[in-house]
Parts: sequence; C-alpha cells; structure tokens
Amino acid sequence: MRKRFSLGVILLLAFILAACGQDATEENGTNGSVEMIQAAVIETAPSDESPESVEEPAVSDKEESEPSAEEEIIMKAEFDFETRTVTLNSGYEIPINGLGTYSLHGEECISSVKSALSNGVRLIDTASAYGNEEEVGQAVREAIDEGIIRRGDVFVTTKIYPGDEMKNPAQSIQACIDRLDIGYVDLMLLHHPDPNDLEAYKVMEQFVKEGKIRSIGLSNWYVEELTEFLPQVETVPALIQNEIHPYYQENEVIPYIQDLGIVVQGWYPLGGRGHTAELFGDPVITEIAEKHGASCAQVILRWNLQKGVVVIPGSSNPDHIRENTELYHFSLTEDEMERINALDRGEKHDWY
Ligand code: NAD
Repeated sequence: MRKRFSLGVILLLAFILAACGQDATEENGTNGSVEMIQAAVIETAPSDESPESVEEPAVSDKEESEPSAEEEIIMKAEFDFETRTVTLNSGYEIPINGLGTYSLHGEECISSVKSALSNGVRLIDTASAYGNEEEVGQAVREAIDEGIIRRGDVFVTTKIYPGDEMKNPAQSIQACIDRLDIGYVDLMLLHHPDPNDLEAYKVMEQFVKEGKIRSIGLSNWYVEELTEFLPQVETVPALIQNEIHPYYQENEVIPYIQDLGIVVQGWYPLGGRGHTAELFGDPVITEIAEKHGASCAQVILRWNLQKGVVVIPGSSNPDHIRENTELYHFSLTEDEMERINALDRGEKHDWY
C-alpha cells in the first residue's frame, strides 16, 4: 500500500502550526489544528509509489530527522471511509477491511484469497502459525500475474509465534518472508508476548531498516503488557491486533491503544468459529440488521469500523467474502452503536 506521508513532516508541521496557528484556530472557530495538518499533508501526498522495490522501501529522507520534545504530538489515526484505509504511524496506508486466513489451507486458501482480491479486498492476514503463508503468497502472485492487482495494491500481514520462532527471530522472520515470496512484507507482528519478545521486536526493527518489512506491530498485547513493553522499544508499534467482537469489546484497551497513535485491528470480529450463530441470532443485532437491510455479519463489521477497529473476517465462502466487503452503503446511528456496546459480556472466545 502507498506511503501517504512522512511522520517527520507531520510532526514538524504540527509543531509550526501549534506555535503560530492560535489565531487561525480562533478565527475558524475550530480547535482541530492536528486534523487540519493531517488534511493538508494528505493533499500533498505522493500520487504513486514504487511498490515492487524491496531496495527502495518508500522511506523518505525527512523521516530520519528526530522530532524534538515539543514536536512529539501523538495523532490518533482516523479511518477514511472514502478510501477505506487508515494511515499507520509508519506512514503506510492499511485497508480497514480485509480477509483473515486462519484455518484456510491448500487450494481452498488460494481460491479464497484470490476471491477476496477479485472482490476488492486489499488486506490479507496470515501468520507463520497458520501454516498457509505459501498459499497466501501464491494467491497474491497469481493475482498479480492475472492483472487483478499490483503488489503495491495489497497489504499482507504475517506474524511470528512465541517459543522456538521468537528464540531465533531473524531466522523466523526471514522464513516468513521466504514462504510468502512477495518481496517485502507490509506488516509483521509478534503473535503473542514471549520471554524473548523484546529481542524479536528489535530484530523486526532491523528488518524494517533493511526494507524487507514496512511496518511492525503486536498481537495479544493488552494494557498491562503494553505499559511494560512500550518504554523499552524505539519504534511505536504501527498496529495491535486483539480479540474484539460485541461479546468481548475491550472498551478500555481500544482507546488506550488508539491514543498512542496505534491502529487497532480485531481478530474474531464475528466472534470466531463456533460462536457466530449466537452473535448472528442476537436480537439487538438482528433488529439493527433488518432496519438497514444488511446482514448481521455486516452490522457487526460496521460496528467495528465505526469504533475505529480494522476488521479481518475469515471465510472460504465467496458470497460471504464479498458480503464482508459491502460495509460502506449504510452506517449505524449513535443509538445503534450504544445498543451494540451494551452487549459486552467480557466473554473471550479463545484463551489468549
Ligand atoms: P471470525 O470471527 O472472522 O469468524 C469466522 C467465521 O464466520 C467462519 O465460520 C466463517 O465461515 C463465518 N463467516 C464469515 N463471514 C460470514 C458471513 N458474511 N456470513 C456468515 N458467516 C460468516 O473468525 P476467524 O476467521 O477465526 O478470525 C478472523 C481472523 O483473525 C483469522 O482468520 C485470523 O487471520 C485472525 N486471528 C488472529 C488471532 C491472533 O491471535 N492474532 C487469533 C485468531 C484469529
């Protein structure tokens, strides 16, 4: 995906406007200076990228300048419902809806990923632990060869697993890149906390410097783990992927992460296999779905998006894959959002 702007440029502009924009702010009757800066910078963003190049990972010179203490303004990433993307703190755009591939293997995985790409999905989530990186990579390469996408159009995430993989992070990360075989990886996550996670994260930072990975992040890190981890690392994670659905909402964790300028992504957005029937049968969700002429899956995914949570529903069914992209022709009212928020039970659907 395209790199929208340099964080360094934004921080610098933010500082300048914060210093001299007081009057302008008052004149305009708005206190949204950071949003104004963001809009201004996005307008001047490069119109194209050179996505194929691993040697040139679209890193601007300006990015290298360290912001001073006064310039350290954290910007909460805003979803753009027109482009269906959000810009990560690394400067790269990530689509806000994608396909999860946990439990997809072999031909079924290849055809599901290709079906998603043909239906406009531009975000694919895999992991070393899913054992399907080869298939995901093959699907992406085939879609490129068939002219469905260019490499730069699709955003591929993978993860390394605790235990043996995190003991040898450089080897495990390289193995992911080799199995995917699509040049660079858009986003690499540590799948879970691990005794060696700090070292593994630093190795991911090194891979970013080498242009093999564009952005890095974490999965299954909550407030306590983040409080301990973040002060020890140089790069603020671009994204954190945690379990989020109407019965497990993480209403304290989501704003905590977002306020750090980190994008939140939800796994099990539909509750996960074995739990979807209950969610799809929930009277609140079915009533809202009927009102909008949408499916329950669409209502749940839209609720996630309106909370600023990127969704990666899993499916091998082409109809469901397409349905899960059709999330932009309706929106939930504040009252409907509140009614779904009230369904929270703190009910985790997996152990981690
Ligand atoms: P999910 O919540 O996306 O639900 C998947 C289930 O919903 C499947 O049974 C599927 O057939 C069904 N479904 C999908 N779309 C539907 C539709 N429109 N109508 C009816 N049924 C529909 O669960 P998931 O796939 O396990 O999780 C999503 C993704 O999150 C995974 O594929 C994986 O990429 C990621 N994940 C990450 C972690 C982690 O630890 N980081 C853990 C689990 C999953």
